[in-house]
Amino acid sequence: MTDIAQRLEEVRARIRHAVIAAGRQPESVKLLAVSKTKPASAIRSAYEAGQRDFGENYVQELAQKAAELEDLSELRWHFIGHLQRNKVKNVVHYASVVHTVDSVRLARELAKRTPQERAPLPILVEVNVGGEAQKSGAAPEDLSEVLDAIDEAENLVLKGLMTVPPFSEDPEDARKYFDALVALRDGRGGATRLPELSMGMTADLEPAVHAGATWVRIGTAIFGPREQGPT
Ligand SMILES: *Cc1c(COP(=O)(O)O)cnc(C)c1O
Repeated sequence: MTDIAQRLEEVRARIRHAVIAAGRQPESVKLLAVSKTKPASAIRSAYEAGQRDFGENYVQELAQKAAELEDLSELRWHFIGHLQRNKVKNVVHYASVVHTVDSVRLARELAKRTPQERAPLPILVEVNVGGEAQKSGAAPEDLSEVLDAIDEAENLVLKGLMTVPPFSEDPEDARKYFDALVALRDGRGGATRLPELSMGMTADLEPAVHAGATWVRIGTAIFGPREQGPT
C-alpha cells in the first residue's frame, strides 16, 4: 500500500468514527481530497486507492493537472479557491462543482460562461461566517441575493453552502462557525434547497461532521504537509 493509500484509509476511518459518534448515516458525509500544490502523481495514487473527488484552489494548477490526468475518466474536480471573474471561463471548463461563489456578479459570470449544452453546474456559496475582513465569502446579510442569482440561472444548480472558519489552535473553536452555517442554511430553505454543507478540514473534521457537514475537504491528512508559500 502506498503512503497515500494508507493515509486515505485513516481519513476514511476518522470520518466513519465521527459519523457514528454524531448518530448520522455513513453515506451522508463525502470526502473531497484537497490536492493543491501536490503533484499529479499523488492524485493518481489516491485515485488508484478509490478516491474520485479532488479539490483545487488555483485555476492554472487545475488546468495543468487536468491535462496530466485526463486518462482518469471518473475523476471529478471541485474548485475550492478564491475565484476571480476573469478566470471563470477556465474553471467551468474543468470543474464538476464550484464551492466558492460569493457574489451576485460572480454567479452571473458563471451563468454566462457555462455552456448551455452541458448539464447544469453544481454551485455552493461560500459564506464568511467569521466576518473576517481579509477572507473571501459572502457576508451572511448578502447571502439571500447570491442564492437567488444562482436559482435564476438555468445552467447553474444551487447545491449548498461552504465555509472556512477563522483559524484557531483549538479545533473545537470552529464548532460555533459550523453551527452558524447550519443556521444560515436553515433560515434559507433548509436541506431541501441547500442539501450540501462543505465544511471541515484536516484539523476540524470531527466538529464539522458533528455539526452536519456533507463534504469534508481534507488535504494535509491525505497528502502530507504543504510547503509554505504564497497562499
Ligand atoms: C487547503 C484547503 C483545504 C484543506 O486543508 P487541510 O488543512 O490541508 O486539510 C480545505 N479547504 C480549502 C478551502 C483549502 O484551501
